This record gives sequence, C-alpha cells and structure tokens, in this order.
Amino acid sequence: MTTTSHPPLTLEHRFADELPELVLPWQAAAMPAPALLAANGELAEQLGLDAAWLGSEDGIAALGGARPIPGSQPVAMAYAGHQFGGYSPRLGDGRALLLGELTDRDGRRRDLHLKGSGRTPFSRGGDGKAAVGPMLREYLIGEAMAGLDIPTTRALAVIGTGEQVVREVALPGAVLVRVAASHLRVGTFEYAARLEDRGVLRRLADHAIARHHPDAAGAERPHLALLEAVAMAQAALVARWLHVGFIHGVMNTDNMTISGETIDYGPCAFLDRFDPATVYSSIDHGGRYAFGNQPGIAQWNLTRFAETLLGLIDPDTDTAVGLATEVLNAFPDHFRTAWRAGMRAKTGLRDDRGEADAELFDALLAVLHEGRVDHTNGFRSLSAVLRQGRADAADAQLAVAPGFDAWVQRWTDRLAAEGVHPQERAAAMDRHNPRYIARNHLVEEALSAATAGDLGPFEAMLAVLRRPFEERPGLERYTEPRPDELPAYRTFCGT
Ligand code: AMP
Ligand code: MG
Repeated sequence: MTTTSHPPLTLEHRFADELPELVLPWQAAAMPAPALLAANGELAEQLGLDAAWLGSEDGIAALGGARPIPGSQPVAMAYAGHQFGGYSPRLGDGRALLLGELTDRDGRRRDLHLKGSGRTPFSRGGDGKAAVGPMLREYLIGEAMAGLDIPTTRALAVIGTGEQVVREVALPGAVLVRVAASHLRVGTFEYAARLEDRGVLRRLADHAIARHHPDAAGAERPHLALLEAVAMAQAALVARWLHVGFIHGVMNTDNMTISGETIDYGPCAFLDRFDPATVYSSIDHGGRYAFGNQPGIAQWNLTRFAETLLGLIDPDTDTAVGLATEVLNAFPDHFRTAWRAGMRAKTGLRDDRGEADAELFDALLAVLHEGRVDHTNGFRSLSAVLRQGRADAADAQLAVAPGFDAWVQRWTDRLAAEGVHPQERAAAMDRHNPRYIARNHLVEEALSAATAGDLGPFEAMLAVLRRPFEERPGLERYTEPRPDELPAYRTFCGT
C-alpha cells in the first residue's frame, strides 16, 4: 500500500552543493496532461521505491517535475564537448535536468535525471523537448543493455506530456526519467578545465574519484590514477559493446561517462550482418563512429580527458604529459585484454593464450564479414555446432560462409586441447551469446506503434530483451535477421 504519510522519495543534491559553478538551478516545464507510458518496476525496486507509487498521480507529478520532491534542487548541468572531433565550449543540459541523487538498496549513489523537460539556459536553438519515440527507444535499448549485463544508465519511467513537439512532423511529447551512476562526462571536465577558477576542476576531479573510483584517492598521484581508472572502465565497456554488436553512434566526449556506463541512446543500433564499417547514424557522414572505430574513438576521447587533468597530475607540464601518455598508450592493451576475455566466453575457450587466441577470433570475424552473416545469430549458433558435433548445425548464413568449415576445425582442435565437456561448454557459451537483441526493424515497428498509441509491441519487446540469453518458444520473430528488401537502416540524433 502506498497510503503512507512518509514521502516515498527524497533526494540529495550533493553535486549541486559541491560544484555550484557547474550547475544552474532550473525547473521542469509544466506538462499539460502527464500520463505514464512505461515504468520500470525492477529498477524502482533496486532504488527502494514503491513501484505502485511510481504509477500513482503523485509519483507521476513528482518524477515529471510538476511537484517538488523533498530534498530535490533541480539543476541544468554545464558541460562542453568534442562533437565529431570539433570542440563546442558550451553544451550543457539543453533539455534535461538533474533532480538530485539517491542511494539505492546496495548503497550505491544514483542520479535521478529528466530528459525532455523543457528549455534551459543551455538550449541554444532547441525546444528543450523530446518525442515519445526516442524516449521509449532510450528506455528499450537501456534495458536491453542491462539485460546483456553491460553497464548502462537506465530509464525509470517515460511520461507522456500530452503536448505535441514539432520535428519534421508534430509528434507526441514525452519526458524520460533516467537513473545513472552519475552524469559526469568527459565534457564536464572539458568545461571545468577552461574556467578561470582552477579550483573547480580539482573539486570536480576529487568528486569523481570519491564517487566512482575511490581507490584512486590512495594512489601516489590520484588524478593520474583517475585517468587510468576511467580508461580501464571505458576499455571494458567498449569491449562489451563489441561483443554484442552495439554501435553507440555518437561517441562525442559529452556522451562518454566517467563512471563507465553507456549513456545517451540516440542514434545507437545493433549490428545486423557483421561488418566493422557499419554506420547507421544519418549524421555520421565520415563514419567516425562506425562499429569497428569505437575502441579508437574511446582512446581519442580519453586523450581529451587526459588533457584536462594535466595540471592536476603534475605542475611540470612535460612530466604530466609523459605520465598521461603512458596511461593512454596502455589503452589498446586494456581494451584487447577485455575484448579477448569476452571472445573466449563467446567461443567457449577456457584457457587464456593471449594474442594467440585473438588470431582465432579475428579469423572467425573475417568469416562472418565475408559471408555477410548476422552477428547475433552467427555467434549464438556456435553452441549448436558443439552440441551436434558438426559445422552445418550453425546458423544458415554462417554454415555456408566461405572458410567456416576450416575455422571450425581449428576451433575444435583448440577446444579438444582443453578437455571440457562439449555440452557444458555449449551451455556456458549460451550465457554469453544473446539469442535476442534489439533488432532494428523491430525497434522501429514497436516505436511507430507506440507513437500511434499502441504500447503492446514495445512491452512485448521489452519482455524479450530483459532475458536475452534464454531461448523461449514463440519468440522466433525476434531472431529473424533484418529482411534484405528493407531500405538501409538509418538512425537519427537528438530527436
Ligand atoms: P545529444 O546529441 O542528445 O547528446 O545532445 C547534444 C547537446 O544538444 C546537448 O547539449 C543537448 O542538451 C542538446 N540538445 C539536444 N536536443 C535538444 C533539444 N531538443 N533542445 C535543446 N537542446 C537539445
Ligand atoms: Mg548527450
């Protein structure tokens, strides 16, 4: 029952208190007719919130920004960012607000944040609003990532505003209620590093250490250790993206977190047929954020992060640059180590033979690429090859891909040397190769239906993606590759 006189949610505002130079107090725009479109009961539970309250009139009013939450001091956060390589000194929350922070059931501090909550002083030409489709998309893909056990910000709710937003056409408006380990971005540091008051950057860095990478506090050089911890977190994150075929699509420095969570599901998408050059975003003309470029871009972004920290690492610039460069140069190794670990799990290898294994993985990817094999189905079907002891038990596209039989021979020779039981190994592989991903054509179908008022396909898809590794009868539709007769898939940013 929610008929309690205690407030069901109270927030703190530690970021706003500690870094007033990086926030502007602001209020969410009023919603003419708020209506809950989606609510995340599982996440509510983690946060110690009452899911029933979430759906109540009081809950919707509080989360949508219409009724003040006890302890909340809503702010728009300032940040800068390199977008497609070019520097923008002032981005900031142009359509978002940080409501405050709460402590979840596990004692972790989480941000509660709104997206689509109206114009702020950072809005520039934008309307500060968001449409139902993109906000439900962020909800859906975030939950898909959580289901895949990939660090991610998550949606607590999507609230329809009852207002139309004008894009190419008029669309129903919505606000996303987002939960994140924090909203500290590389772009937050880029903004702080250019302020005249050098104390802000130091306070920000120390806040980030305390919140996300507390071990760095005890290091000989805490800010160098912060850089290293963020580099490790990002190496692990981007490796996980590659394991499941995820393309972020807009890895600008303002969309890269200090916590190591995936953030901002705008033009993101999952690969269909494997090709490292895949780009879905309609604005990524040069393919900067193509699937296979993501590790290199992460390192580029970390270099921008390192630049902001130099003065804190050492008063002597040459010394600071030398130390930071060492950390940055180690990034590819950290990435490869994380990537290989996941690839071993995907292919059922137990022993770590370092880069010798990578040759086997690269050979498999070459087969997938040449055979234009669906990434998800190709990997998932490797367990069938083991179970049945024959290469043609693989996914139909993979089974006929040039070079696959030879690769299976190499792979099974390698496995035989380890002597794990094939059934056991196959079962373990199925816990790392998803059966279900958010297939682009089905995402579009679900979002179009939701925009027209039918949330059924969205909810059905959500239920599938929450348990992506567990094959269930009746869900074959979600495993079918994108039909070739559909036009090339395109995604859009900031909509
Ligand atoms: P994004 O591409 O969503 O990461 O956003 C990049 C920047 O554009 C951020 O500063 C956003 O706040 C801002 N922005 C995106 N859409 C809008 C909008 N509709 N109104 C105002 N600002 C926006
Ligand atoms: Mg962003």
